Amino acid sequence: MSGDDHPGLMPVETALARLLELAEATPICECERLPLAEARGRVLAEPLLASLDLPPWPNSAMDGYALCQADWQGEPLAVSQRIFAGQAPGPLEPGTCARIFTGAPLPAGADCVEMQENAEVLADGRVRFREPIKPGQHVRPQGQETRQGETVLAAGTRLGPVQLGLCATLGAAELAVRRQPRVAVLSTGDELVEPGQPLGPGQIYNSNRRLLCSWLEQLGCAVVDAGILPDDLALTRAKLGQLSAVDLILSTGGVSVGEADFLGEALREGGELALWKLAIKPGKPLTFGHYQGVPVLGLPGNPASTLVTFALLARPYLLRRLGVDKVAPLHFPVPAGFVWRKPGSRREYLRARLEDGRAVLYANQSSGVLRSVAWADGLVEVREGSTLAEGEPVNFIPLSELLV
Ligand code: AMP
Ligand code: MG
Repeated sequence: MSGDDHPGLMPVETALARLLELAEATPICECERLPLAEARGRVLAEPLLASLDLPPWPNSAMDGYALCQADWQGEPLAVSQRIFAGQAPGPLEPGTCARIFTGAPLPAGADCVEMQENAEVLADGRVRFREPIKPGQHVRPQGQETRQGETVLAAGTRLGPVQLGLCATLGAAELAVRRQPRVAVLSTGDELVEPGQPLGPGQIYNSNRRLLCSWLEQLGCAVVDAGILPDDLALTRAKLGQLSAVDLILSTGGVSVGEADFLGEALREGGELALWKLAIKPGKPLTFGHYQGVPVLGLPGNPASTLVTFALLARPYLLRRLGVDKVAPLHFPVPAGFVWRKPGSRREYLRARLEDGRAVLYANQSSGVLRSVAWADGLVEVREGSTLAEGEPVNFIPLSELLV
């Protein structure tokens, strides 16, 4: 069902497409060179080209014996040398074999390896191979994984442990990466109190601040923790004005319909403002604008809404500003372990666990219940206007795809 069936509500795809367009118009291009040990979570600014073949030389995939396959006639062979990983062997004496260990270079003249389990060492030290040997067996040929000059990682790749390990296999000591985006996190609400402080009447602890600050750090951002902002226009203006050096101001709360919306008010004065009502649940209100040229994204305040809108909209927006191409999380269909009877006008992101291959829902899907996310393995996506019978396929987005 398209968003046109619900006038006034913007489909999630439309909001995402607009945010990605805005991101592409304001890329964070500056880069720096970092040692591998400091590059985790960053985005490659240049493609990583292989500086060598991998492996650099043919080597043994097994502990065993290296030989020339043509020399195997069923007769035992003398062992002419021993080759450990890290050694540079001389050529193989014709008609003999070499004791070899995993990862050791194959001697010139050898073209295969027989594993030690299939070899019998005779009393005179020669070795008999029980089974016929195929040319090339148990050998990792030079360049099998990568050829020198090949592009191994494209520019725009996010660097996690695996990518960094791969850079290390190619001997890269430093990488050109995009600089960290500076993101200010602002929690709006007169009711908010920081953990560690006593709670007064009507007050609640600020959960979004910790949620977003730690998530952004994990995303590779430099977080400017702008603390709690009371619901007040003058203070909102003053606070936004202090944050002129960041790449994005991310605020939560104060965007509910009908409420005094100080963020929107300040943005209206400061330039552009877009107020979107999204066809998303939890979520719905989202503010995008600029304050003195700095992009501001206002997420809803209920913690589960903050989480869903950050995951589906803010996160891809930020990654795209860094030049990341693949910003959509991996998702796949799973059988619903629940029934969905009432078609909604908004796309629902339900907190769910996979149990016996089926998605089962957390009992309380209220947008204020962050515990639902702590319990869940992922988000189940129920499209607007649809119903579900038990066992019908439903889209599942693992949280592990989003919380990185
Ligand atoms: P608002 O959009 O400001 O009306 O907030 C919607 C709901 O989210 C209200 O119940 C707020 O108390 C709650 N909320 C807003 N910001 C936070 C926050 N930082 N931590 C926890 N709850 C919040
Ligand atoms: Mg509020």
